[in-house]
Order: sequence, then structure tokens, then C-alpha cells
Amino acid sequence: MTTNQLAERYTAVLERIAAAARRAGRQPEDITLVAVTKTWPVETVLAAYEVGMRQFGENRPEELAEKHTAVEAALGPDSGIVWHQIGTLQSRKTGLTAVHADVFHALDRLKIANRLVRELHENGRSLPTFLEVNISGEASKSGFDVSNWEEDATQQAKIRTVVRELVGRPGLPLVGLMTMAPWQVAEDEIRAVFRQTRRLAAWLKEIEPDLKLTELSMGMTDDFEIAIEEGATHVRVGRALFGSRT
Ligand SMILES: *Cc1c(COP(=O)(O)O)cnc(C)c1O
Repeated sequence: MTTNQLAERYTAVLERIAAAARRAGRQPEDITLVAVTKTWPVETVLAAYEVGMRQFGENRPEELAEKHTAVEAALGPDSGIVWHQIGTLQSRKTGLTAVHADVFHALDRLKIANRLVRELHENGRSLPTFLEVNISGEASKSGFDVSNWEEDATQQAKIRTVVRELVGRPGLPLVGLMTMAPWQVAEDEIRAVFRQTRRLAAWLKEIEPDLKLTELSMGMTDDFEIAIEEGATHVRVGRALFGSRT
């Protein structure tokens, strides 16, 4: 893809974000577009930077570390780039995230939080973090199981314990919830998942007033407009910007 084509795709995605925001009575600038560069080479990140993108998402911590290092070597430390770790972590990889990521979207276990808190402290860093929630209950999805949270007192108690454990952890501010919609289902089902995520965040804020869950990371290439209509503050978009990954 040429730089011009990339610029056109970027503009098109920004326009779709703005249109979805307006439909929902929201401001386009309240939505952060995270450009998902996983599997693409460093040159793609540099081209994306050239056309104006500043927020980049990677799902594997090794790949994020590699690209962060290479991009910083090319552009220097003041490029203004924000690196988002969007995929879940295995506990032996938390060190990479503690050093290289600026935002973490996929916290799915307290064990990971504990390790990150220690490693962030060692590095003198802070990592705004989203709790990943599994709303659809699909076994293939990661995240805390909240598939029936409105009815199920056990699920309520569990997620409540998790956020209580996390509130006020130094270096690991909990900023919001992240979710993934189910694959290949009807639009209303996708919309319901995003809506439930927003409702869950509202409920958690109500029962834990110290919690500042203002952000919602939801929506990818196939569903980011629905997510914005349902309150997403961060959309994670790969293919609509860079094309299909092979
Ligand atoms: C790959 C990925 C995305 C982006 O997916 P696209 O369909 O390419 O937009 C978003 N979020 C996560 C967690 C991903 O792994």
C-alpha cells in the first residue's frame, strides 16, 4: 500500500468514527482510534506515523517491544506515540509490557495485575489499564466471565472482588472495561454485548465510588461504529486501516 492509500484509508476511518459519534450525540474527539499494527512491519508503523497516526496497538508483547524499540530508534523518544498492549498477557511476559506499553487493554487475571504492579514499580512507570470482560460467555474469549452478571450474584461478587483488589494499586490505574464482540453474529447481538459492557461499568462505578471507570475499549474493523454508538471511547482497528493480515 502506498502512503497516499494509507492516508485515504485513515481519513475514511476517521470519517466513519465521526459519523458514528454524531449519530450518538457524541464528540468525535472523545474517541481514540488505536491503529492495530500486529503482524505488519515497522515500516508500516512509520508510514502510519507519517500520515498522522499516533496510537498503536499490538496484541503480542514481544512484537510490541520490538516495534517500540525500532520506532523509537527511528523517530526518537519524543514522537508522541502511545503504545497499547491490546492482547491478553501470560504471566511470564508481563515484564515486556511493564517496560514497553503505555496502556494495557486486556487485564484478565489478578495474578497478572500483581506482577505488573511489581514490575512497573521497579521501572518507575505507570500503566493505565482496562479490565477485559467476557460478556458473551464464549469459552474462546478471555476476560472475566460476566456473561450473566445482572442475574447471577456469584458473578457480581466475583467481579466486585476483582475491582476492589485493583482499586488504588500504585502504578496500575484501572481506567475502564474492554470487551470483544462475538464473531459472525447478528448486529443486535453485537450491540447487546457493547451495551452490557457499558451498563456493567456504570454498575461498578455505582457500587465502588472510588473507581474511575470512564473508558470503554470496544469495537474493531467489523463493529467499531456500533461500539461508538454504544459508548466506546477506544476503538481498536487493524484491517480497515492496513488491509487483511495474511
Ligand atoms: C487484532 C485485534 C484487533 C483489530 O482487529 P481488526 O479486525 O483488524 O480491526 C482489535 N483488538 C484485538 C484484541 C486484536 O487482537
